[in-house]
Amino acid sequence: MIEPAVTLVRCRACRRSERLTLTDGRFWCAWCQRWADVDAEQVLGAAVVLDGDHFRLAPVAAPKEWQQPLRIPSGWLIGWNSFAEDDIDPTSDSHGGFQNLFQATNEHLRRAIDVDWRVDAGPPVIGRYRLQVLSLVAVDSNDHRHASGPLAVDWDAPLHDFETAERVALVEELEACLRGERG
Ligand SMILES: [Zn+2]
Repeated sequence: MIEPAVTLVRCRACRRSERLTLTDGRFWCAWCQRWADVDAEQVLGAAVVLDGDHFRLAPVAAPKEWQQPLRIPSGWLIGWNSFAEDDIDPTSDSHGGFQNLFQATNEHLRRAIDVDWRVDAGPPVIGRYRLQVLSLVAVDSNDHRHASGPLAVDWDAPLHDFETAERVALVEELEACLRGERG
């Protein structure tokens, strides 16, 4: 994420910024009345705003935490959702290995959706999203299927399997799954 910043250019002699004019790649200082040697200074988290008839530096509110918009129909119970917050860079190995990003269940549809981020052992480092639609099955206390037992995710037989490195493609597929259009 790029932080808002302003670069100030000051005349080295008078330290003024507002009297400088850039002409043909050189700065003319109207205070000193000569071509100026300049210093540049970067101010992070600031912006130039018009205040009455002059400009001033104003602090910029820190950008809100990035969140992936996700349309989730009613009926889904979200067990885990770091997908909305983690903006993964596919070329970065800082999320190496395996990361569970999203898990939701819908008892009415008897479905579960699971999204992971996986990175193969490199080089090159290649990451991808993996989305699965799974069945919710009734099991007994020994994890065997039993009509009257509590619901559990059947990891052994995915109904739908989708892989992509593209976040946009993943979001489209995930929303289709949440609408019940896959598996
Ligand atoms: Zn000057």
